[in-house]
Amino acid sequence: MVGSFVYGALPARVVFGSGTLATLPEEVARLGGKRALVLTTPHQAAEGERIAHLLGPLSAGVHSGAVMHTPVEVTAAALETLRGMGADCVVSLGGGSTIGLGKALALRTGVDQIAVPTTYAGSEMTPILGETKDGVKTTVRSLDVLPETVIYDVDLTLTLPAGLTGTSGINAIAHAVEALYAQDRNPIVSLMAEEGIRALAGALPRIVQTPSARDARAEALYGAWLCGSCLGSVGMALHHKLCHTLGGSFDLPHAETHTVVLPHAAAYNAAAAPDALARVAGALGVADAAQGLFDLAGRVGAVRALKDLGMAEAGIDQAADLVVKNPYWNPRPIDRAAIRDLIARAWAGDRPSSAG
Ligand code: NAD
Repeated sequence: MVGSFVYGALPARVVFGSGTLATLPEEVARLGGKRALVLTTPHQAAEGERIAHLLGPLSAGVHSGAVMHTPVEVTAAALETLRGMGADCVVSLGGGSTIGLGKALALRTGVDQIAVPTTYAGSEMTPILGETKDGVKTTVRSLDVLPETVIYDVDLTLTLPAGLTGTSGINAIAHAVEALYAQDRNPIVSLMAEEGIRALAGALPRIVQTPSARDARAEALYGAWLCGSCLGSVGMALHHKLCHTLGGSFDLPHAETHTVVLPHAAAYNAAAAPDALARVAGALGVADAAQGLFDLAGRVGAVRALKDLGMAEAGIDQAADLVVKNPYWNPRPIDRAAIRDLIARAWAGDRPSSAG
């Protein structure tokens, strides 16, 4: 039976396909942009120059200073460049780090953003910005930071290394898993979530085997778009709180941490949200969602233990304390002992507890 719900569509234009980057000049012009500042990480600087060349007279220049977690000092430097170059819009080429910088500039100046995602993190579809100041990450939720246009070009994901493809894809799946049991879930977003999980779970092992498989790359990017839309539309729960805490307090890598934690968060919530987890299992094509997510991480060759990401064992109790403090809403109540057990399993790389 369909119950009551609220559904709000986010106003973004999405251009999807192979070779779609070629539409960038017309997409900039469509927004009324005259001088676009291209943003990248240092690692993708050469790609940024290629984009500036493609933009021709519409390019104001390239700023290749984006880093993880959007530190405010990095934004301040980019803001100076934006103003110095007289740019009136930004093109953010890259993953969540670069797109985060574009959002931070939009929040401060109101410039339009065209996001060109090259990972599966999903930030391009969300009105959410996480910023770091003095080592503390805070989150802003505002339509002012939602990119106006998103160009998904499958070709740009061909260079995403197999390792990051697997973990970035499971990071995307995490958004969809939590969307299915979100407090404010709704039937449309749940459809996107199931389809996103199905697309990514099918494509990721194929990409890891053959990174140049364009059809699998297209399927994965399509799944990432759907999962990013889930993240932008409904609230997240325990899994995202755990990853936020672990990433922020122990400086663990974003996508890899999501990949380790997700099976354990799914197991924790299995009994409290059986319908949601059954839909996850169905989309994965397995009997049990948590076990299936753990196996998927194994199939893509991902690290499955927090200790192998560099977290010290002493961090387990500290992390449990932080998660219990100011918890997110979660379908199963947050219990300190059970959370500690979850983190200890994730730390050791054990299979998720089927008892939940
Ligand atoms: P990332 O943006 O940090 O990218 C990781 C590295 O891979 C970078 O060096 C990047 O240049 C490189 N890279 C990206 N695409 C590539 C490609 N196709 N080929 C080769 N190299 C490539 O990683 P991420 O996981 O996409 O983003 C993580 C950050 O995004 C975190 O700070 C996270 O908090 C944030 N995030 C925010 C939201 C949101 O809604 N606000 C959502 C998801 C993630």
